Amino acid sequence: MSKLIAFAAIQGGYKVVAQAEGQLNKALATYDAATKVGFPNTAYYLPVIYSITGLKVETLEDLKKPLEFAKGLLPPHIRLKNWLPYLGPLLDAGMAGILSYEIIEALRYLNEPDFYIAQEDPDIENGKLWVGAADDTILRKRGVEFVDGSAPGFAAMVGAAPNKEIAKMIVEDYQKKSLYIFCAANHNGNTIIQQCLDAGMQVGWNTRIVPFGPDISSAVFALGFANRAAMAFGGVQPGDFKTILKYNKDRVFAFVNALGDVGTEWGVAAAGCVNWGFPTIADTPIPEILPTGICTYEHVVAPVAHEDMVARSVEVRGLKVQVAEIDIPCSFGPAFEGERVRGADLYAQCGGGKTQCTEHVKKAEMNEIEDGKVIIEGPDLDAIKEGGTFSLGIKVQIAGREFQEDFEPIMERQIHHLINYIQGVMHIGQRDISWIRVSKSAIEKGFTLKDIGVVLHAKFHQDFQKIVDKVQVTLLTRAEDVDKMTEIARADYHVRDARVDNMTDEDVETYYSCTLCQSFAPSHVCTVSPERTGLCGAYNWMDCKASFEINPTGPNQPIEKGEVLDANLGQFKGVNDFIYKASRGTVTHYNFYSMVIDPMTTCGCCECIAAMLPGCNGVMTVGRDYSGETPCGMKFTTLAGVMGGGASSPGFVGHSKFNITQGKFILGDGGLLRMVWMPKQLKEELKDRIVARGEQMGVPGLFDMIADETVGITEEEILPFLKEKGHPALAMESLVG
Ligand code: SF4
Ligand code: ZN
Repeated sequence: MSKLIAFAAIQGGYKVVAQAEGQLNKALATYDAATKVGFPNTAYYLPVIYSITGLKVETLEDLKKPLEFAKGLLPPHIRLKNWLPYLGPLLDAGMAGILSYEIIEALRYLNEPDFYIAQEDPDIENGKLWVGAADDTILRKRGVEFVDGSAPGFAAMVGAAPNKEIAKMIVEDYQKKSLYIFCAANHNGNTIIQQCLDAGMQVGWNTRIVPFGPDISSAVFALGFANRAAMAFGGVQPGDFKTILKYNKDRVFAFVNALGDVGTEWGVAAAGCVNWGFPTIADTPIPEILPTGICTYEHVVAPVAHEDMVARSVEVRGLKVQVAEIDIPCSFGPAFEGERVRGADLYAQCGGGKTQCTEHVKKAEMNEIEDGKVIIEGPDLDAIKEGGTFSLGIKVQIAGREFQEDFEPIMERQIHHLINYIQGVMHIGQRDISWIRVSKSAIEKGFTLKDIGVVLHAKFHQDFQKIVDKVQVTLLTRAEDVDKMTEIARADYHVRDARVDNMTDEDVETYYSCTLCQSFAPSHVCTVSPERTGLCGAYNWMDCKASFEINPTGPNQPIEKGEVLDANLGQFKGVNDFIYKASRGTVTHYNFYSMVIDPMTTCGCCECIAAMLPGCNGVMTVGRDYSGETPCGMKFTTLAGVMGGGASSPGFVGHSKFNITQGKFILGDGGLLRMVWMPKQLKEELKDRIVARGEQMGVPGLFDMIADETVGITEEEILPFLKEKGHPALAMESLVG
């Protein structure tokens, strides 16, 4: 923390307390001590003093006690030497200043009864600009909005912008975010309120631009309003200052914008607001107070350019953007998730082996992206003829104070069901093997690619409020752009996959479930262990762990693996118990390391499907991106149709590409040494890893022993090749027992 600002705030504290004392003494000399003081039409006395100290101020005499209290809070003056950077003295000075400001305003009501106009909107014609403290009628009407969320909080704006255009820009932006704008103080005689009026805006409680008063002391009305809301709607008891302040910090998203030179009197007000958890964002280069502690993030941030003021304030206060509506022309919701887009209704499609369709979520810096922006690069659907295909790259950038790179795969995996939620649009797969089919009915309703961006922005905010602050979506449709993006995405997929590379299933006691696919395959439960990534390839053990942290009641639950029932086949008591429950009694048990005996259940998203080839005493696997025939007699699509519904199908299993070279891949059946056939492309893609794994397993030449479609697509065709190469599977014990 800066010594300078602490100095200014503490100076300010002394100054304001002295002002209050001087004014009170003068009033006591002028009026009878029993003279009534207070704000109009309220049962909360002087609300900050009442809520913080429990003192009920009704007369001039009563003001003495809170003044003494404020004095007592004043910390010793800062000396240049031996100064310790604690927030405490600053907070106390700030509170002393705020209490004194309320005394000063109470005396103003006494001395100048007509200074404020006691109504919701000012009376501009008669020069009555300032409405002063809100009475209890306004509190009941407006305060509840702070509780039910229709107003997330307020921006307390002090001073004035350099001109009316800037004032309008900032204030309107807050209005759009449903915040109240509480205005106080002036900068060289200019006020934001006057600037708003000059810019043709309407001010008053009704437009949420509240003209409290022209002096910094009137800022206390904002805090008084917040504290009364806490007492009225939050049930907090007067005098319970800790709860009051915490309630405000947690529930009222408020902050201060200081526009203009911050002197000691503004400084002490800013310090006071830190007690409430309300940070100050200033447009002048005042010293910042960056370390966090009381406020959610920083306490004072400066200097901030006017065009960044709103975004920075919202960010520093941790205000979450609410996206209530999903503004697309089609219906939207989980009800449409399972809906198919069949041939006759198909308008256009991307991915699915016909074109490239890739999804990639990437963390961004706060200032790098614009929330809600959807960029389309290349032609949109209107440029595509019925029955046509197009390439698509969905690049989502997310920024958030709490957002970590570890969360990228989790967000990316949501794209699948979120696009499926759009009526008339179907999504299959993930990562670089996605497949989207758009129906004629969706096109008739006016669906465009932009709607994908709108959906992702809205749902990421709604479903991941805690970690998401900004979402920007870019949709690429030019094939060369998509290819470039796919390269970048693949590099990231590799990094993610590699994060579990050095872990083994024995290293951990906890595996994770994934039930994200139950909407399609109701009895399907993926269990994800370090050596067995989710069969979609999109979730590994680390991802599930992170997902559980973000959403403890979500689809990824920890599973204590418990007693090892079969170390060879990979069967665990804890897992069995969990899947029995999670499949609602349909699946009693399964083996992690076998495809022959009671394998794991498979849903339709698997990247690959392995199948037994009894004639070769081995197994084959085929990826989604290979559309040709295979030696098991079925293409990928047929296989997926046969066993993708969530059942355990002995002899077959769905798995991720990465899993093929993981240590436990069908180890109970002999492991990777059983692999006799793979599509060439998949084999090439995994070449380095297959070579390495073959060496590890004692068969250095394994890669060259695995047949592909260039060797043959039936068992008879590949068997001679396997014999010639001396494939290890041929010498293993019989696969069928
Ligand atoms: Fe989760 Fe498995 Fe579906 Fe992947 S395939 S999303 S790991 S349930
Ligand atoms: Zn699935």
